[in-house]
Amino acid sequence: MSDSSLSMNKGGIWRSMALWKKIFIGMLAGVAVGAFMGPDAEVLKPIGTLFINAIKMLIVPLVFCSLVVGVTSMQDSAKMGRIGIKSIVIYLLSTAIAISIGLGLGTVFMPGEGLNMVADANAAVAAKESPSLVSTIINLIPKNPIEALAGGKILQIIVFALGLGIALNMIGETGKPAIKVFNSLAEGMYKLTSLVMNFAPYGIFALMAWVAGKYGADVLLPLAKVIAAVYIGCIIHVLVVYTGAIAIIAKLPPVQYLKGIVSAQMMAFTSTSSSGTLPVSIRCARENLGVSKGTASFVLPLGATINMDGTALYQGVAALFVAQAFGIDLSMADYMTIIATSTLASIGTAGVPGAGLIMLSLVLSTVGLPMEGLAIIAGIDRILDMARTCVNVSGDLMVSVLIGKSENELDSDVYKSDEPQTATQS
Ligand code: ASP
Repeated sequence: MSDSSLSMNKGGIWRSMALWKKIFIGMLAGVAVGAFMGPDAEVLKPIGTLFINAIKMLIVPLVFCSLVVGVTSMQDSAKMGRIGIKSIVIYLLSTAIAISIGLGLGTVFMPGEGLNMVADANAAVAAKESPSLVSTIINLIPKNPIEALAGGKILQIIVFALGLGIALNMIGETGKPAIKVFNSLAEGMYKLTSLVMNFAPYGIFALMAWVAGKYGADVLLPLAKVIAAVYIGCIIHVLVVYTGAIAIIAKLPPVQYLKGIVSAQMMAFTSTSSSGTLPVSIRCARENLGVSKGTASFVLPLGATINMDGTALYQGVAALFVAQAFGIDLSMADYMTIIATSTLASIGTAGVPGAGLIMLSLVLSTVGLPMEGLAIIAGIDRILDMARTCVNVSGDLMVSVLIGKSENELDSDVYKSDEPQTATQS
C-alpha cells in the first residue's frame, strides 16, 4: 500500500471512530504529552480554552430553549410538578449518601493525620458568608430576565424559562407558534452542540496536557491520600450507588448506563464544569439512554445546577482532612452539621470550575474548622474538581434515567442499543 493510501486509511479510521473513543485517546495523549513537556505544556492551553469557550457559548441559549421545550412538552402540569418533586428528592437523597461516603473514607484514610498544622488566628483566607435563606429565595426571581441571560445566572434563567413555558401552555393555540420557535431553536442548539463536540478530542487533549504538565508528581504526592480518598469515593458512588439505583429502582441493565454516559463524563472530567457539560449530557441522555426530550430538557438543567454529589463527597473528605491536619476532634453533632451544610452548599454551588472549593469555606466555617485548611486543598483542587464534576454529571444522568423510566418517558430500545439513536418520545 502506498504512503498516501495508508494515511487516508488512518484518516478514515479516525473519522469513523466513536466520539468517546476519540476523546479518550485525546485524554491519554494529553497526559503523555503533559508529563513529557512539564509546565511548558501551558502553550497548548489556548486550544483547550477555545473548546471550553465554544461549549460555554452553548449553555445559556441551550438551557433556556431546552427548558421551555421541556415544560411545554409536558402539557400535564400535575406530571411536571411530580417530575420536579421526584427529581429534587432523589437529588437530595443521593447527595446525602455521597457526603456520608466522603466522611466514611475520610475516617478510614485519615488523609490529614500527621500533618500537625497549627491554626493561625490571622489567617488570610476569608470564609464565604452564607447567604440568608430569604435572600436566596428573593434572588431566584430575575428582575430583568435579559440581564439574567446575559449574566448567565442559571437559577434565574431556570425560573424564567419554567414560568414562560407554563404560560405558553396556558394560552393554548396562541402559544403554539412561540413553542414551535423554541422547539426549532432547541434542535438547532443540539445540532450546534454536536458540531462543537467534534472538536472535543483536540480541546480535551490540550487541557489534559496542561493539567498533567502543571501538576507533576511533586505537587500531588504529599496530598496523595486526599486525592485517593476523593477518587475512590467518586468511583464507589458511581459504581455502587448509581448503578445500584439503575438496576434496582429503574430495573435496567447498568452497563448500558455506564457506556452511555462516557462522553459526558470525559467532558466533565476535563472541563470541570457541570454547566459546561450540559449540552453533552442532554445529548447522551437522548441518544444513548433513550430519555425523552421533554424529560432530559427538564431534569438535566435542573440537576446541573442543584445536584452536586461529587462536590458533597469531596467536602466530606476535605472537612475531615482539615480537622485531622489541625488535630481537631469532631463530635457526632459536627458530622451531622457537615452532612446538612454540604448538602445545602452543594445545591448552591454553581456548576463551574472550582466552585466547590469556595463552598468548602462555608462548610469549614460552620463547624469551626480553620480556614487555612482551604489553602492546602486549593493547591490540588483542579485534580479533585475533575473527579467530583464527573460524579455530579453522572448523578444528573442517573436521575434522568430513573425519572424517564418511572414516567414512561424512556425508550428502552434506545437504552439497550449500543448505537446512538434518539428517543422517539418528545
Ligand atoms: N466544578 C464542579 C461542577 O461544575 C463544581 C465544584 O467545583 O464542585 O460540577
